[in-house]
Formats: sequence, structure tokens, C-alpha cells
Amino acid sequence: MRKRILVAALYIRVSTDKQEELSPDSQKRLLLEYAKSHNMIVAEEHIYMENGISGRKADKRPKFQQMIAAAKSEEHPFDVILVWKFSRFARNQEESIVYKSMLRNKCHVDVVSISEPLIEGPFGGLIERIIEWMDEFYSIRLSGDVMRGMTENALRGAYQCRPPLGYRIPHHKATPEIVPEEAEVVRMIFDKYVNERMSIYALTRYLNSLGLKTSHGKPFEKRSLEYILQNPGYAGDIRWNRVNHETKELKDPSEWITRSGHHPAIISKELFLEAQKRYQAEYHPKNAKPVEVTKHWLSGLLKCSACGRSLSSCVVHRKTIPDTFTFQCYGYLKGKCTHNCYVKEEEIGPTVIAALEDAIQRGNVAYTIKRTQSKDKGKNKELDTLKKNLERLAQKEARAREAYMDGIDTKEDYRKNKERLQQERVELEELIMQLEQEPQEASNDVQMIDNISNVLDIIRSDSFSAQQKNAALKSIVDRIVFDRDRMHIDVYYYLAETPETLDL
Ligand SMILES: [Zn+2]
Repeated sequence: MRKRILVAALYIRVSTDKQEELSPDSQKRLLLEYAKSHNMIVAEEHIYMENGISGRKADKRPKFQQMIAAAKSEEHPFDVILVWKFSRFARNQEESIVYKSMLRNKCHVDVVSISEPLIEGPFGGLIERIIEWMDEFYSIRLSGDVMRGMTENALRGAYQCRPPLGYRIPHHKATPEIVPEEAEVVRMIFDKYVNERMSIYALTRYLNSLGLKTSHGKPFEKRSLEYILQNPGYAGDIRWNRVNHETKELKDPSEWITRSGHHPAIISKELFLEAQKRYQAEYHPKNAKPVEVTKHWLSGLLKCSACGRSLSSCVVHRKTIPDTFTFQCYGYLKGKCTHNCYVKEEEIGPTVIAALEDAIQRGNVAYTIKRTQSKDKGKNKELDTLKKNLERLAQKEARAREAYMDGIDTKEDYRKNKERLQQERVELEELIMQLEQEPQEASNDVQMIDNISNVLDIIRSDSFSAQQKNAALKSIVDRIVFDRDRMHIDVYYYLAETPETLDL
């Protein structure tokens, strides 16, 4: 009986978990050999090779998805998918069965493992499933071994890192011990958070008002408190495998490893769990909203008059009327500024527009000239060097004077030295003055007022987005300082030396 020539697709995947792994190229070579000896043609465009994804974490398999899509397509580009082992094809038995039966029954595409014999007859399917089940079992067992190995490493290695607030490591590789006064702060944090239901922001402000510092000796921030509140170390555990050290991204919590540590706990497990419960209940990951939705035309321009930090915007969604914005000092939100510098857009928006109108009416306005950045950098570097030289010169002058007073130098030596140094000083000061002087442009008030008027037109118009209005305003205004107590704003205009192109 002459068999029909089949067209084969190859699916190649490496599982990094496994010890006895075949490289992608070896898998490909074996699959091609198998196809040749079984009268199959391999379509070059249907060789699907995944790049280094582990068997247990295979939720993102772009090539696999492409291959399934091709198999489902009208053209029926191949009759069979060759894999080295079934464990390459799917991450578990259920998935394997779902895909295989779909491929066989709906697309008439077979999946063949070239290293595991497919047994014909009534038990064939059953044995195939047993093979898959063994694969899955092996994969789970192996990741168990991997976990155990990592935990051992964790227990040995975790204590080599910097200890968190509340602990110190007395000597290299020693088990951490409690620093009593810091441990008190940790207990207070958990107690106020869990038992007094204090918010993280309020807690941050409270700790800073007491002058307490983090383990880095800095004021507390929201994120330092979040780190403390989520650190199981305080309940005597150690945590491992939480952050990808290359990308600094948090791994999926299912991959974190927590085990009992050898160090003393500062708080009880119950208190720690209560804190986790509250944190999880209140934690809302930031929705990735398109910029247009979250941006106000004043975004990034308003500054707190008390601390100079930016006011961050907050969108208030209403059902019947369009979203409204409020602005608040970012430093206050982080617990670092004591001024609750807060304002609604319906208050600040018209105030800014009125200030622009006022400038146009008066026909003149104070502004600075902004040089292009690259030029500025070079200039600043040169200035820094010159100023350092000037400081050094002052030291030299002092030393020359001391040498004369101590009788080391004669009066004549001192006079000569003084003259030489004085000459140097005059030259240096002249250079610095030249650099520091802004180029005196011809009065550009007309240009500046023209720009303000154009920007005002854009802000008032309905045909520009908030982002476009924001870009327009940022092309003439450096910052708007808002004073909550006086309900007053100061607008700082600038004129770009080389006009920035507006990206509208
Ligand atoms: Zn502030």
C-alpha cells in the first residue's frame, strides 16, 4: 500500500527545567530526519520554534498560537505536527488533549511525537495519555526539586543581603538579630495599620512627623511602608524568588517562595496576615488608561508653593457629567510635605486663563530665555570647572598668607605670590562672568506676547485635545506656582532660544 505524502509542520520548544534537554537545533535535526524517513515533506515556513520558555510557565507561546491558527485556516497547509516529545507540545495533559482532539477532529491534523511510539489499537490513546501524564508528573516533581534547592540556597544566602529596618547582621553570613529601637517602629507600623486602620499615607506622614527614618536613613515614603507591610521577614519567614533581578520586575506571586527563617520574628504571624488582608483588599493596580483620558491641560505644570513639588492630578469620574480633575501636592500625598495644597480644576483653570489674558492686555511679561539643552550642559560643565578653580585659588591665597605670617616666605615672596594669584583671579572671574551672562536679546516681548496669545487660543478652543493644549502651554510656561493659603498663582513664562516645534 502506497502512502500519501504528508506535509509536516515542526514544533520545537526547549524546557529549561529539564536536565536531559535537547537543544532546539538537535530537536530540529531529529524531526527533519524523521520526516524524511517517513515520507513527509517539511514546509520551511511551518517550522515553529519557541525561544527559551520553560515547560511549566508556557502560557505565552507565540509560535504555538501561530501554528494552531495555521492549522485551523482554510488552506490546510499541513497534515501533521511533529514534536520531539509530547511534553514539548502542551504544558499539561488537559491542554494536550484539548488541542490534539481539536486538531484531529476539526482540522484533520495529527500530532506525532517522534521519540514516544504511538501504539495502534484500542489502547493506543490510553497509553498516549499515560505518557503525557508521566511527562506532567515529571515536570511537577522536577519543579519540586528545583524549589527545594532554591529554598536551601535562600536559607544560606538570604542573610547575606542588607537586613530590613528592625534587624542588623552582626557579622558576615550571621543570622540577623533584632535592633530593639527599630523593631519598636516596625511594631508601631503594623499596629497602626492593622488595629488603628491608619492609611498608608497618614502613617507615612505620622512617622515623618516623629522624625523617624527608614533603614536607608531617609524619610518614609508610601513605597517604603508598602515594602515593610508586605515583608514576611518580620513574622520570622524568609521570602525568595520575588523579583527578577535582571528586569527588577515583580514575579508572579505563585513563584515566590516563603519558608521559615532562622531569625527572630518582630511581629506575630497573625498580625502579618491581617496586614496582608487589608493591603490586598485596598490594593488597586493602576489601570493603564490612555494618556488622553488622564491628562489635563495643566498636568505637570502646577507646583506646590510650600515645597516646590508638582501637584499631581486626579480624575473624578461622574456618571452624568464629564470627568473632572483635582490637583494635589505630590509631596503631601507621599507624606513629605505638610501643606495640603489642593485645588479643583474649576478653580485653577479659569485663574490660569485669566493670568494669560492679563499678560496679553498689559503687553509685557517677565520671562526667561531657555537655551537648548545640549548647549546648556556644556556651559554648565565649563562653569563648574571654573568655579572649582576659583575655590582652589582662594585656598592658595590663604596658604600664601599663612606662609608669610609663619615667617616661611619673605614679604617680597608674599607680594609676588599675591600679585600672581590676583592676576589669575581676575582672568577666572572674567571668564565666569562671560559665561553667566545671558545673551542680551533685543526685547522679545512682542514675540512672547504673540506666543501667549496663540496658546490661549488653543486652550480656549474645543478642537484640541487636553494633551495638545498641555503641550502648547508647556511651550511657553515653565511652571505655575500655586499658593493654597492665598489662593494665588505665579506663572513663570519662558521663551525658547530655538523655538520648540509643537507636536500637535
Ligand atoms: Zn507641597
